[in-house]
Amino acid sequence: MRLRHLAFLAALAVAPAAAQESAPAPTPAPASPQLVVAISVDQLSSDLFEQYRPHYTGGLARLLSGAAFPSGFQSHAATETCPGHSTILTGVHPARNGIIANDWMAKDKTGKLVEVYCAEDEANKPASGQGYTPSAVHLLVPTLGDRVKARWPGSKNVAVSGKDRGALMMAGGNADTIYFRWGSGFGTVAGKQLGLEAQALNAEVKTLLTEGAPAIKAPAWCEARDRAIPLGNFSVGAGRFELKPGDFAGFSRSPRYDEVTVELAKRLIDGEKLGADGEPDVLSVSLSATDYVGHAYGTNGIESCIQVAELDRMLGELFDALDAKGIDYVAMLTADHGGIDLPERASEQGVPAARRVDASFVPAIMGKALGEVLRIKGPVFAGGSPAGDVWFDTALSAKDRARVTAAVRAKVAKSDDVAAVFTAAELAAAPAPSGDPRTWTLVQRAKASYYPGRSGDLVMLLAPAVQPVPEPRPGIVATHGSPWDYDRRVPILFWRKGMAQVEQPFPIETVDVAPTLAAILGLTAESGAFDGRCLDLDSGPGSTCER
Ligand code: ZN
Repeated sequence: MRLRHLAFLAALAVAPAAAQESAPAPTPAPASPQLVVAISVDQLSSDLFEQYRPHYTGGLARLLSGAAFPSGFQSHAATETCPGHSTILTGVHPARNGIIANDWMAKDKTGKLVEVYCAEDEANKPASGQGYTPSAVHLLVPTLGDRVKARWPGSKNVAVSGKDRGALMMAGGNADTIYFRWGSGFGTVAGKQLGLEAQALNAEVKTLLTEGAPAIKAPAWCEARDRAIPLGNFSVGAGRFELKPGDFAGFSRSPRYDEVTVELAKRLIDGEKLGADGEPDVLSVSLSATDYVGHAYGTNGIESCIQVAELDRMLGELFDALDAKGIDYVAMLTADHGGIDLPERASEQGVPAARRVDASFVPAIMGKALGEVLRIKGPVFAGGSPAGDVWFDTALSAKDRARVTAAVRAKVAKSDDVAAVFTAAELAAAPAPSGDPRTWTLVQRAKASYYPGRSGDLVMLLAPAVQPVPEPRPGIVATHGSPWDYDRRVPILFWRKGMAQVEQPFPIETVDVAPTLAAILGLTAESGAFDGRCLDLDSGPGSTCER
């Protein structure tokens, strides 16, 4: 018996008595949906989403017919995949969920600083031949799926992604079924087996990689983007994703990569019987190809245009498949971060300030140079990035740390490439930000992705339009990770059958997604559970936040 129907019958049973006391009777709250489909499109900035908006006819058009918030914010400074995915279904900023970056440095048993990947369990020895043990152990708070399972023990928490961190940060540590790219197909976490659906997809991917595939036809509205930008011995901007046999990297940087992820999600709807009973299920789908295409070809060439067109088509097919099964579902789409184009093209297109960061800010290079000037023996930095956290070498004395910090500040003051440098102490002392994310100061943005003990000794933030990749190379011509709105601003879209269309240009945050979906499911969380707030998706005086 479906619990949802039991609740409905119980409501009917009390309705006549209530009607006698006060008329007219209030409209009963709609039943909870049977399934939440939470989609993250990796690197889908609001800018990219809006650029092609008039052309959407598939899943993106469907989502736009629901509640559209084109100015959603991944409010924090560390606009990377792991922190971004960590905010969407937890409802809290990285400062609270602990996912401050894709990678950070922590002391190992011997006291040496070593790199830790956000989605690994470094305390758990990897299986033979594997580089690490994929896990959500570093995520310090529950996800929506965790909460749904705690409330309704028969519910399911399922996730698929082209990246392990995408699936793990959306599902959390209590997934029933979780698949992500591992090697050249889908894998899962330790202790779980690949189901029939994932095994079948892996066989299909293998065949595709053996045979290769022809170029993908660009829609007419993409043709204006078709122009090659030379970058030394290679070029970007005019590619159409012809797949050469055996080219896994080419496969991952193409719409075909999302196609298999969406296909696996579709098959899991049947295989896992999602939305089939009264206990709501959560299906998280993190689509990685938009990100890989952005990194490899930039965001403003024909490649990105084809990718978005294909994404629109395949999301439409996913929703059609759910409709055909008669499932009452609420769909939500957002992104883990935004992105910008490569400076070689942007500088030709009205952004003369677009440039690549000077390599002298790369911590390894900067540390060597500062060490010579300051006459410091041994390494200065243990690691880090010119666009985020930087760690001192553990052997560096407190006095030398202060000297290095002053020297970094002096170097930054003489350059236009870096907007700000904060020390861990400054970030620890800064108040937690709130309110309109557009008006947050840089220290507030950095505070939102600062977690003591994980964050760097210094946090360096690049100036606007400075690309963190010092030299373009095949596969990586552009990236994200800045505190600026091209990397922070992402669409947030909700759709459920029968919903009246509403669009709100006022900014909201990705941490608002979890409390909004929780309210739609009728799931109450403890006070203060979320940094975000419930968004009322009802276009009229009713509210989806009150049940
Ligand atoms: Zn990402």
